[in-house]
Amino acid sequence: MQLFDVYPINDITIVKAKGSFVWDGEGQQYLDLYGGHAVISIGHTHPHYVQRITAQLARVGFYSNSVHIPLQEELAEKLGKTSGRPDYRLFLCNSGAEANENALKLASFHNGRKKVVAFSKSFHGRTSLAVAATDNPAIVAPVNQTDNVTFLPFNDEEALEAYFKAHGDTVSSVIVEGIQGVGGINEASPTFLQAISRLCGKHGAVFIADSVQCGYGRTGKFFSHDWAGVDADIYTMAKGMGNGFPVAGIIISPRLQARHGMLGTTFGGNHLACAAALAVLEVMEQEQLMSNAAATGDWLLAKLREIQQLKRVRGKGLMIGFDCPDHLKELRRNLLFGQHIFTGEAKPNTIRLLPSLALRKKDAEAFLEAIQEEIAAMEGAAHLTKP
Ligand code: PLP
Repeated sequence: MQLFDVYPINDITIVKAKGSFVWDGEGQQYLDLYGGHAVISIGHTHPHYVQRITAQLARVGFYSNSVHIPLQEELAEKLGKTSGRPDYRLFLCNSGAEANENALKLASFHNGRKKVVAFSKSFHGRTSLAVAATDNPAIVAPVNQTDNVTFLPFNDEEALEAYFKAHGDTVSSVIVEGIQGVGGINEASPTFLQAISRLCGKHGAVFIADSVQCGYGRTGKFFSHDWAGVDADIYTMAKGMGNGFPVAGIIISPRLQARHGMLGTTFGGNHLACAAALAVLEVMEQEQLMSNAAATGDWLLAKLREIQQLKRVRGKGLMIGFDCPDHLKELRRNLLFGQHIFTGEAKPNTIRLLPSLALRKKDAEAFLEAIQEEIAAMEGAAHLTKP
């Protein structure tokens, strides 16, 4: 049997990983500034993480949500403290799309309404309602199309205000990333997030903060929406939560009530997933990774802004994007195959940096040297080929 061919693949096989580095089968080392789509939060194969999951696996790996799983309570307690939301409730699932799907569904159960407001360039996942709320028609199948989602322009407070004025009593939820990831590292302005919060409150709609990519400490605060000083009703999270172990969740404001059967999952919140998620939070706390993300990220952003060829350097903490001019459109590829550095992309010409929150300054320095060397080489080559 062959694999269903949906991914464009780099011809690299990773056989070993540690901290911010991975190695291929030939022993070539790569600096990982992408973390496999922003997933590696505390660093590859962190010893505490490996030990906690291994020990848990030897005790009990899985049982369903039909019995007490004290690890879930331990995780809820720790997550409540770390996120600064001890009074919220935790529902665990397995992926970012599933987290958003559950959040949108819960909002609709809560207020009995159907309409979802999402924004231009959003990405919320590939399952039915999550993909319907994603601004990319190419990945929305006919069966996912629905009139229940309205897209408004991102960061446009007037359009939002006008929409609520006309349709406020039908809006079930508003879903928004604090910093759009797949859309190209676009930060929601504080006043935009404050307007969402205010209008949702006024009209009985639910404010869903998609923190799947921009959350979990990456920007130096636990949720990037926190920079705007707002409290969303539901935060969705995944990626960094398990440092590679598939675990996701939503945390829910106490104003939304639970009832049995409302949400559910077989695998969500299993013993191994909780052990992984607890290990991540423990390491984040012990190694002060949120502060490191803020400090190393700010420093790296400032240094990247000094490289005049890179356009619109933007982001917060260790969620960084910049645009490549036309003559450097192969930069990302050359960084990978020439300098052995993994970075991410956003179409059409953005490079995204989403490294581990434990990225060391000396590794960031090595990246800055490498990118400048690569730009000089590309510009030199372009110069030589000119008639
Ligand atoms: N939400 C955001 C903001 C994302 O960036 C992603 C994935 O990139 C998702 C949701 C979907 O997460 P998953 O791929 O785990 O379903």
